[in-house]
Amino acid sequence: MKLTVKPLKQKDAGRGLAAIDRVSMNELNLENGDYIVIEGKSDAQAVARVWPGYPEDEGRGIVRIDGRLRQEADVGIDDNVTIEPADVKPAKSVTVALPQNLRIRGDIGPLVRDKLSGQAVTEGQTVPFSLSFGPMASSGQSVPLKIASTSPSGTVVITDSTSIEISETPAEQVQSGSGASAEGLPNVAYEDIGGLDDELDQVREMIELPMRHPELFQQLGIEPPKGVLLHGPPGTGKTLMAKAVANEIDAHFETISGPEIMSKYYGESEEQLREVFEEAEENAPSIVFIDELDSIAAKREEAGGDVERRVVAQLLSLMDGLEERGRVTVIAATNRVDAIDPALRRGGRFDREIEIGVPDKEGRKEILQVHTRGMPLDEEIDLDQYAESTHGFVGADLESLARESAMNALRRIRPELDLESEEIDADVLESLEVNERDVKEALKG
Ligand code: ADP
Repeated sequence: MKLTVKPLKQKDAGRGLAAIDRVSMNELNLENGDYIVIEGKSDAQAVARVWPGYPEDEGRGIVRIDGRLRQEADVGIDDNVTIEPADVKPAKSVTVALPQNLRIRGDIGPLVRDKLSGQAVTEGQTVPFSLSFGPMASSGQSVPLKIASTSPSGTVVITDSTSIEISETPAEQVQSGSGASAEGLPNVAYEDIGGLDDELDQVREMIELPMRHPELFQQLGIEPPKGVLLHGPPGTGKTLMAKAVANEIDAHFETISGPEIMSKYYGESEEQLREVFEEAEENAPSIVFIDELDSIAAKREEAGGDVERRVVAQLLSLMDGLEERGRVTVIAATNRVDAIDPALRRGGRFDREIEIGVPDKEGRKEILQVHTRGMPLDEEIDLDQYAESTHGFVGADLESLARESAMNALRRIRPELDLESEEIDADVLESLEVNERDVKEALKG
């Protein structure tokens, strides 16, 4: 029986879970907590732990896995996968390698075991480890740990009695395993974006479909879009979305910053635009992301300048000249959509526009879930309540709320702690808990 891949909900990502509805679980003879191998078209595969899915998925024949597992199995959303029982053994010991610039004082083993407990791992694999603070981790993000070796070998499950050793060799120097992804973790997955499900669906339909199934478009005789314009206030997730789409489809990613390109010397702006597009075509499938498009392509009457006119003309000709239809897509972002040169908003250029608005209460809750995922939150904290009381906050505000709350928790347990220090105390990490007061303080700003 084949199941269709869908993303996990934001709050459940990062734990090696495969959410399958009960009907499909019964048909596949699976029980809650079983380990399964997920296989797509290629040889790549991922091992996950079965978990009864969300009630609304009942009977839909889908399996929800997060960005890391999708990458390991080399599958995308809406792909079909086969599911088989996995042969896993409990791990006696596992040696993990930390990234070079994460330096821990003391024994971090128990904390790693705690966070990874129940996950299936294989030598050479990269797994996310969430840290709420430190030189590498912003809130809700995770540090990539490498599984250097396991005993026994093969795919093993980390249990409460697994002993975790920390490797002397940094993660960067440990070989990646065959089945595991070589490039490490995706930087941004759909699960890292809150409150934009509909918008993500629209972007996927415009970009992912043509890139992954160009034959569909050829068959239908329709042109896939060359450009998508995301517009809305700053900090709402436009950049995040562009990165997530690129990661999800394994596309090459090029960024152009509007203001930066306009600050070049005479003639250099056009040259640089040309180079970026060239690079994108060479590495197709690619996404070219133009941030603050308005600073390049303001309406001519507003811009007026000779430089602006030339740069807009260059951008128009580059977009018109994109040969690999559907294989290079330009995503641009602006918070001043009305200021964009109408020539760019016409058919064949940025002919699709998606508004990325300020999140509503549900959206704010999902964003808070993203940024507190893996954070040790005191049970008394009710994210619903904070989603309610943060009217007007955009994603970037909610991210800093989560980060400031974690910082407050740190200051509370270690007033003398040097937050800039590169070394982190394992004891401090272990005793860290973010409580109600930390969040309230952070809200006061
Ligand atoms: P924009 O491009 O719209 O100005 P960004 O995508 O750069 O905004 O957002 C800045 C940061 O704010 C992101 O890196 C992320 O941490 C956080 N953020 C913004 N929007 C969201 C969202 N919808 N979900 C989760 N995090 C978000």
